[in-house]
Amino acid sequence: MATRKATKATAPKANKAKAPKAKKVYTAADIIFDLSKLDPELRKDIEENWCHLFAKFPERLIRIESDAKTIKGEKIGFMTAILYMAPHAISGQNLCALALLARCADPCLNLSGRGTFDVNQMARLRKALYWIQYRERFLKQLHKEIRLAKAQAERQGFILLVRLNGTTDILWERYGVPQAHADIQFYDYTKIPNRNVPANYDLTFSYSGVPQFAPFVRRAIEKHMRIAVVFRSRAAVEHYLTSGETFMGMPVVDGDDTDVRHLDPQAAVVALYAKGKAITDQSGFVVG
Ligand code: SF4
Repeated sequence: MATRKATKATAPKANKAKAPKAKKVYTAADIIFDLSKLDPELRKDIEENWCHLFAKFPERLIRIESDAKTIKGEKIGFMTAILYMAPHAISGQNLCALALLARCADPCLNLSGRGTFDVNQMARLRKALYWIQYRERFLKQLHKEIRLAKAQAERQGFILLVRLNGTTDILWERYGVPQAHADIQFYDYTKIPNRNVPANYDLTFSYSGVPQFAPFVRRAIEKHMRIAVVFRSRAAVEHYLTSGETFMGMPVVDGDDTDVRHLDPQAAVVALYAKGKAITDQSGFVVG
């Protein structure tokens, strides 16, 4: 005989919708970087306003650049990945050995374009502290990101270019970074003329007209290096490009069209025009 199953009285379901997770509030105690060598004002700013950023390692070090210059580079087949970190001694350790002598720290490109936003400045400082204080971990992440960038460039039909000194002047060859990626073209601008770099690392010497820096400029000329010169205005650059006039006895090529420097000739001047704070610079770094 079939028996009818007793039906359980169904209790009304409890409302299982989760309450929104409370956002973690970071304090100075969460900061994982040693800030003791920073300017006291900067340190105070971080401890009051930027704990959330300095409580974690950066997720990304290099980024595929997308400014007008690198977009033009893409038109001729190159994708550019750049690492930007806080220049000179902002991090408490000098990452641009000759910046004081060349007097370029103030008008440095770090303070132009997107770099004028506080969050970008702080992100660059965090990366500089990461480089200084967690070197091994930083390098491991950097190598991985370079490999990923190469794969991305190839997927999209580009050749990858890597510029590690977006706003620093570190001798990456001493850490074996370009050597570990012999099939990738690295490039940088540098104030240091006597670097010994592997074949896949292209350097353009960065000029300053400050008298104390003159011996370094002479050395770069002797070595037939390509020399980047920042002129006060685009009009000054145009003058050299259209008149065929030389600068320091060298032919002048346009450096603002693309950032694909390794295709430019050696023993030539790469003309750039001043941007950001550099427009009003009177140190001698900017010409004109
Ligand atoms: S211009 Fe170059 S060397 Fe000078 S502070 Fe900026 S990144 Fe450093």
